[in-house]
Amino acid sequence: MRVIVIGAGTGGLCLAHGLRRAGVEVSVHERDRTRTGGLQGYRVGISPSGSRALSRCLPPELYRTFLATCARTPRHFTMYTEKFREVLSLDLVEQPVPEDNERSVSRMTLRQVLLTGLEDVTHFDREFTRYDQHADGTVTAYFTDGTTVHGDVLVAADGTNSAVRRQYLPHARLEDAGIVAVGGKVALTPEIRALLPDRAVHGISTVFAPGGQFCILHVMEFPWDRSGAVRTGIGGTDAELLAAWPGLLFDNTRDYVMWGFSASTDKFPADIGDRRGEQLRRQVQAMTGDWHPDLRALFARTEDDTVFRVNIRTSVPVEPWSPSTVTLLGDAIHTMTPGRGIGANTALRDAALLTRKLTAVRDGRAELLTAIGEYETRMREYGYEAVAASRKQMSGTDPIHRPVLGRAVLAGMRTGMRLVNHVPALKRRMAAAEQSFRTAEDE
Ligand SMILES: Cc1cc2nc3c(=O)[nH]c(=O)nc-3n(C[C@H](O)[C@H](O)[C@H](O)COP(=O)(O)OP(=O)(O)OC[C@H]3O[C@@H](n4cnc5c(N)ncnc54)[C@H](O)[C@@H]3O)c2cc1C
Repeated sequence: MRVIVIGAGTGGLCLAHGLRRAGVEVSVHERDRTRTGGLQGYRVGISPSGSRALSRCLPPELYRTFLATCARTPRHFTMYTEKFREVLSLDLVEQPVPEDNERSVSRMTLRQVLLTGLEDVTHFDREFTRYDQHADGTVTAYFTDGTTVHGDVLVAADGTNSAVRRQYLPHARLEDAGIVAVGGKVALTPEIRALLPDRAVHGISTVFAPGGQFCILHVMEFPWDRSGAVRTGIGGTDAELLAAWPGLLFDNTRDYVMWGFSASTDKFPADIGDRRGEQLRRQVQAMTGDWHPDLRALFARTEDDTVFRVNIRTSVPVEPWSPSTVTLLGDAIHTMTPGRGIGANTALRDAALLTRKLTAVRDGRAELLTAIGEYETRMREYGYEAVAASRKQMSGTDPIHRPVLGRAVLAGMRTGMRLVNHVPALKRRMAAAEQSFRTAEDE
């Protein structure tokens, strides 16, 4: 069986590893010109569910490299007001089983990890345009450079604007969630570190502000220094493993603080889509004029060329379709808002499940279309559930964005969270509920 994967993103590369590990022939075709090109955003949170999928698909040595290249494991999850006053802070206890921990990962580093060992089957500068499905079920994919590839299964792992999906399920739609997000990063210097409370330095922080404004902060510290030399003392550093990892050559990630600010689209000027770098940063500063000076200093000191904007979109679930030798995973079929931080984790879960189903076909334990149909049935269930949960958390129509009602909603939320903060049993229950949400997987 020859599997063609379109897109060398999180899900596509994880699938390619899984299939390779199982001995299935696979090739990956990526539009970006090089292995360091095209990435937007700096940090992705890998949940226990995502880690389990990676541990199933990656060769064991590479999975250890993944663990060794994660940023320092967050120890706290803290909610602040825009005046940087703590509302609620949960401790994220280090779990003895590596897969049970939340991981903070640089997108560039994760991409380099996932490309390791797939160099010979990953083709860059290959933009997919269309496919033909033949009478015998085999598929030919066409690319803008005039090349083609022929295989038994075509997997769309080409993200939100998937060209495969547009041909295969032309009725599948994306909707604007009514939210604009602006993100940026600033190098973690001693001066920047001094702007942040200790719990923010060692954890994930969120700021809920009036008007439905929201900001998330991630402090990312890596097991190598500014010159790229491996250092010890950051989480699970395995210095020898890292020093031997060729991916470090391509990775220019250094310690940083990443911030992501968002608000409903109507709060931004109409031409926000045309603004870049400095203009975007200044827009965030203009919208946060009454925020704590340390938070404002963080925005002010952000390097302009790191600032980017995303209009948040979300998939509209489609009715089940008949399985064929074309299938989809990740954002290509279930784009979700970043509200629950599970888009990449769901793509990894898809990759692990599809690996298992296709391996059963290769072993003669299942028939191809039955296996793909079973994968799609399950993937649609948890994928669309994740879409709904993420939308609930981040939608421009949420009352929190309304002028008067929004203030009441925010006040109520803060009162509730402060209560939880003072009652250990409630805190434990809240932490357990989140842990169980982020641990879901398919056996
Ligand atoms: C601001 C923000 C923050 C987020 N934070 C988190 C988080 O903390 N945790 C989390 O789990 N998720 C998070 N997500 C979601 C996550 O980034 C995505 O869900 C995830 O990247 C989807 O993976 P994928 O493999 O499906 O697609 P992608 O990673 O987008 O990969 C698609 C690949 O296909 C390539 N491609 C596209 N078109 C073509 C073509 N025609 N031909 C060839 N190649 C093509 C692209 O270049 C790309 O490399 C966040 C998203 C946003 C916007």
